[in-house]
Amino acid sequence: MLAATNEFFTRAADFLELSDKLRTILQTPRRVVRVEIVTESDSGELQHHLGFRVQHNSMRGPMKGGLRFHPSMDEDHASSLASLMTWKTAVVDIPYGGAKGGINCDPSKLSNKELYRITTRFVELMKEVIGPNIDIPAPDVNTNAQVMGWIMDEYSKYYGFSPGVVTGKPVDLFGSLGREEATGRGVMYVLEEYLKSDGRTLADVSVAIQGFGNVGSNAARLIAAQGARIVAVSDISGGIANDKGIDIPALLDWIAQHKVVEGFPGAAAIAGEAVLTYKADVLIPAAMEDAITLDNADAIHAEVIVEAANGPTTPEAHDRLHGRGVTLIPDILANAGGVTVSYFEWSQNIQQYRWELERVNQELQRIMRKAYADVAELAGDKGLDLRTAAFILAIKRVARAASSRQSIQHLLPESLLD
Ligand code: NAD
Repeated sequence: MLAATNEFFTRAADFLELSDKLRTILQTPRRVVRVEIVTESDSGELQHHLGFRVQHNSMRGPMKGGLRFHPSMDEDHASSLASLMTWKTAVVDIPYGGAKGGINCDPSKLSNKELYRITTRFVELMKEVIGPNIDIPAPDVNTNAQVMGWIMDEYSKYYGFSPGVVTGKPVDLFGSLGREEATGRGVMYVLEEYLKSDGRTLADVSVAIQGFGNVGSNAARLIAAQGARIVAVSDISGGIANDKGIDIPALLDWIAQHKVVEGFPGAAAIAGEAVLTYKADVLIPAAMEDAITLDNADAIHAEVIVEAANGPTTPEAHDRLHGRGVTLIPDILANAGGVTVSYFEWSQNIQQYRWELERVNQELQRIMRKAYADVAELAGDKGLDLRTAAFILAIKRVARAASSRQSIQHLLPESLLD
């Protein structure tokens, strides 16, 4: 996965004519931590899991990024996702660097108590390298507000009351109103901006969504409420489709009871992968990386792909789709709503002041609209795809911050200074 992120970085770095030295400075993670988490299972046996935190870049502020609990979590994934966080926080211009981490585990096979012991042991082992002014974790795949609450509590045992050590906390425990749905809401805002360019609204389009967790389900709910027809949805259990539009509130009720989309009576069952190529105007991959590859790129029907997941499109598939005229709104722009409201949560924690939901959503919309406009304008001016434009914008901001802190001005080419 890191290779794909580096490839996208390289395309922008080539455009900017960056020297090898500057590329190395910008790409090399600042710190990579691996910990061995040994805990007791409910039946008293020893459980052993690997935990990771990659802190990629801190030039623009404390490092920020999610924690993923998944059997695929390893150093390569954490490094790739940490690098994406550096560019993402720069695209939306919030005062953070990038980090990412997680635990190699399968939460579906762990009890709540086991998950609690693993999480708190992870915090104990990582406590010296995270903190409100150092590195602030947040939810990602298979982690949620509850896990963030455990992290805040465990960290606070060592350092005293520290709500700002983690974001995405429960609203009852210093979380922000609007954080849970923020990534899905940000996805909606960038899609609205894309449609606006030729006078359309969400009511004019059909949408297929892969992944129905935090990001996918919130995007579906919000986009459907604006009149879009959600025609296909999948999760780990498989896919469902209904060309008339899936009743999303009814699907959410179904999931509250049955956990997965499988068996939902208001739609036909289809294969999970078929959702990616389903006949819809908009495709929202909101599950895992590498969903869109050369194997399925030619069969994709959508005119626009909004990358709610991180790294869902391989570079080769990106090129094939871009060549066909498909617009790809890249992850580092499309899913930045989550980290943006995490920034609001952290600001609220530091000030001990709660924002109203209306203010959270207004500021999120302002930031997402501006980031989309900045990226689209650069892409239009230079004849670039949106992903390369987003990377260029981000690299410029990070490199300029680095040169204001360190004596590296001589490494910055003209292209970074305009
Ligand atoms: P989640 O754990 O809440 O949900 C993941 C969903 O994907 C689940 O519905 C799961 O069943 C589904 N899934 C997993 N493998 C699948 C497959 N092969 N096919 C179809 N569905 C599959 O995770 P999330 O927080 O919604 O994260 C989803 C993506 O969004 C990830 O790439 C994550 O990095 C990214 N993201 C999340 C946030 C956030 O705030 N949570 C922010 C930015 C980006």
